[in-house]
Amino acid sequence: MRKLLLNLLLLIAVLAIAFFAFAPRYFDSTNNALDGKPLEAVSEEAKALHSTLTIVDLHSDTLLWQRSVLEPVEYGHMDLQRLQEGNVALQVFSSVTKTPTGQNYDNNSADGDNVTLLVIGQLQPVRTWTSLLERSLWHATKRDRAVKESGSVFASVNDGSDLESLLTDREAGAKDRTGALLSIEGLHNLEGKAENLDVLYDAGFRMAGLTHFFDNELAGSMHGEEKGGLTPFGRDIVEAMEAKGMIVDIAHLSKKATAEVLTMATRPVVSSHGGVQATCDVNRNLTDEEIIGLAKTGGVIGVGYWEGAVCDTSPAAIVKAMKHIRDLVGIEHVALGSDYDGTITARFDTSGLVHVTNELLKQGFIEEEIRAIMGENAIRVIRKGLKPASELKQSISTEEAVE
Ligand SMILES: [Zn+2]
Repeated sequence: MRKLLLNLLLLIAVLAIAFFAFAPRYFDSTNNALDGKPLEAVSEEAKALHSTLTIVDLHSDTLLWQRSVLEPVEYGHMDLQRLQEGNVALQVFSSVTKTPTGQNYDNNSADGDNVTLLVIGQLQPVRTWTSLLERSLWHATKRDRAVKESGSVFASVNDGSDLESLLTDREAGAKDRTGALLSIEGLHNLEGKAENLDVLYDAGFRMAGLTHFFDNELAGSMHGEEKGGLTPFGRDIVEAMEAKGMIVDIAHLSKKATAEVLTMATRPVVSSHGGVQATCDVNRNLTDEEIIGLAKTGGVIGVGYWEGAVCDTSPAAIVKAMKHIRDLVGIEHVALGSDYDGTITARFDTSGLVHVTNELLKQGFIEEEIRAIMGENAIRVIRKGLKPASELKQSISTEEAVE
């Protein structure tokens, strides 16, 4: 009997070790895949132009996973080495804190949560097992540690001066420097408390989507049960974000809440990752009316590279969505929003971004337009978005005074 018990305990221990050692990496590598479909050869012209671009990607979920951004791995979509190979100047890293069980695009309740199992499996600090706020703070810590360990090759972008020094360094030839800006995928991590916005801001978060896959205290999600508008709490938080200098992201937001955010916004709004309904009729993608509303705020739409965003994974499908936005509201509203490592399947990882440049050239976009799409538009929005409202008013009145 005693021997049986010992064997049983041994078996449990072996299974537990196997789970903690292999499961997180297994989930990461199978959920963040490449489809292996063919890619066209890249022209010399595209390679040359790509190496001179300032590239910004508005959305990656790499911080969710166990690995450090500094660790070069053969799976997933992104690490520092691949960001450098892709010539990425600034990457926005999002914090995912809760995803519903049975996650889908149509209807999810807020009850289940896959992330809990993941954070335990990844042996994250115990405080992150139950608190959504702590999960985001852990993601900020992960970024900050990577910055420190990289000797600032990987650089935090928390304010305008961080952004300008990153751009100046790269201009001066330090092309290996990649900036990292923190964002949030769903403000349920506030845990219903407005004061937690300050906690998140102080940890370095500068952009946030109000909802993810389920309705929360702030608003309805496009994938929630009710899909309602902004709550009074949600309105307060949008105002507080604009006042502090945090960029509002409408990705995943319900149609009703999107319309309300676009009406009340006094700052450029982003759609950090997704597509447009005109080229890919999926509920999460933007209607023409929404694209026009977002453009009026001066914002950008980060076009994604996966099936749910552009109905294919080819560079041609990505550029088709970009072309639609350009033709509807102008080139200055088009940007990149990969959703890399966000449990999506893509055709190329971040080291292969030259395929977007290649396709843009092939489809007749001129150099100036390509520079705008690949990063300059996003830089404009981030530069403005990071300024606290008080500073922004000052700079506007100075500009007016100069005129
Ligand atoms: Zn997302």
